[in-house]
Amino acid sequence: MPIEEMPTPAELEIVLAQHIGTPCEAIVKKRSKVEEGELVGQVSKGLGVPIHSPVNGAVRELSISAHPMRVSTPSLAIRTDAEAPAKTYTTSDWSKLSKEQLLQKVHDAGVIGIGGAGFPTHAKLTPPRGTQIDTLILNGAECEPYITADHRQMVEYPEQIVEGARIILAILGIKSCQIGIESNKPDAIAAMEKAAALQSTNGIEIGVKTLEVKYPQGSEKQLIQSVTGKKVPGFSLPSAIGVVVHNVGTAFAIYEAVALDKPFYEKVMTISGLGIKRPANLKVKIGTRLSDIVEYLGGTTPDLRKVVLGGPMMGFAVSTLDIPVLKTTSSILLLTDKEIDKRPYSNCIRCGWCVSACPMGLQPNEMGVYVEAGKADDTKRFGALECFECGSCAYVCPAKRPLVQFVRLAKMGIRKKESQKTG
Ligand code: SF4
Ligand code: SF4
Repeated sequence: MPIEEMPTPAELEIVLAQHIGTPCEAIVKKRSKVEEGELVGQVSKGLGVPIHSPVNGAVRELSISAHPMRVSTPSLAIRTDAEAPAKTYTTSDWSKLSKEQLLQKVHDAGVIGIGGAGFPTHAKLTPPRGTQIDTLILNGAECEPYITADHRQMVEYPEQIVEGARIILAILGIKSCQIGIESNKPDAIAAMEKAAALQSTNGIEIGVKTLEVKYPQGSEKQLIQSVTGKKVPGFSLPSAIGVVVHNVGTAFAIYEAVALDKPFYEKVMTISGLGIKRPANLKVKIGTRLSDIVEYLGGTTPDLRKVVLGGPMMGFAVSTLDIPVLKTTSSILLLTDKEIDKRPYSNCIRCGWCVSACPMGLQPNEMGVYVEAGKADDTKRFGALECFECGSCAYVCPAKRPLVQFVRLAKMGIRKKESQKTG
């Protein structure tokens, strides 16, 4: 579906823990007036990025909100001033800015990796000392079922995404970028190829690599191997083999941060599943409550059974719609009985399908058995810490074993044991 802008709701709930690292602290008070794009939260020390108000309005209260991944977290409730005109932004020439100035703009706009766990982008654009980067990969694979937000952004904003890639190349001081897109998105491939050809000037080479439709094609290490043929060893970062990967949506946010001086306070997301009356790709303000989105789309169907934030393979089920959109929220799936498998799980029958399916070559079957036996801390040898929770093992398991949940418990057991060892 084409991207549609959702009207701003009467109130937004801005969670102060949006990224990996130190959460923000509010720098506004109850009843403070705020403007669209104004700084409302920042990190005093440690890794993090600021948070901005997506609207003109006033802070109704500083409170505690439900958080999809944490139990709860401090937040700001901002009442929207519906009469105030929306802020407009114009492009500026960034080509004369230094790497440091470009990085500062990315930081100040509050950009984080929106295709993953929310790592601050300015930090990811600063590779470890001693590493030599030669290739940027933009991730346009979008391999999870249902989600089409990146797909539509590539079709509708290809020039801006490619300009975002140019900014990243300028920051990294390199000239080569490959954009990986699965072959089931021919319109996105065509649009991005056209934009890439126009921006491949002055020695810069930006190309599009058509990828096989294969889950989990969009996971960082698998994508690097598909695009470059190179394998990232063990626990190393992609920078170890000279590669940096960013999502196409993050490249768009970098474009807005640098070329428009626009903070990151709105994003495109997919709302889908048979449980929503009108599925859509919506541009929404960060802090919009899920309940407002559902209401805007006509409500849910009577047979709604499960709400998932993220894709069906890697997303998290949530028990309420009374939570806000975060910078990392890529989709909301509203699923009915027809789409979920409610059969209870049973014992492992040692068929080995999960081992064959695992793209990392791990042994999820053994991890599950060990966790059930109370030996979660003894699962490192089966590769628990290398698991990136793609869900492929659980998907193929004929016994319907909750293998991803087992692996999460395995990781917790190992980390607990290791922290006890180090005192
Ligand atoms: S979730 Fe399962 S298939 Fe995916 S990496 Fe982890 S163990 Fe392997
Ligand atoms: S796929 Fe399921 S039943 Fe088969 S070995 Fe793996 S955990 Fe056991």
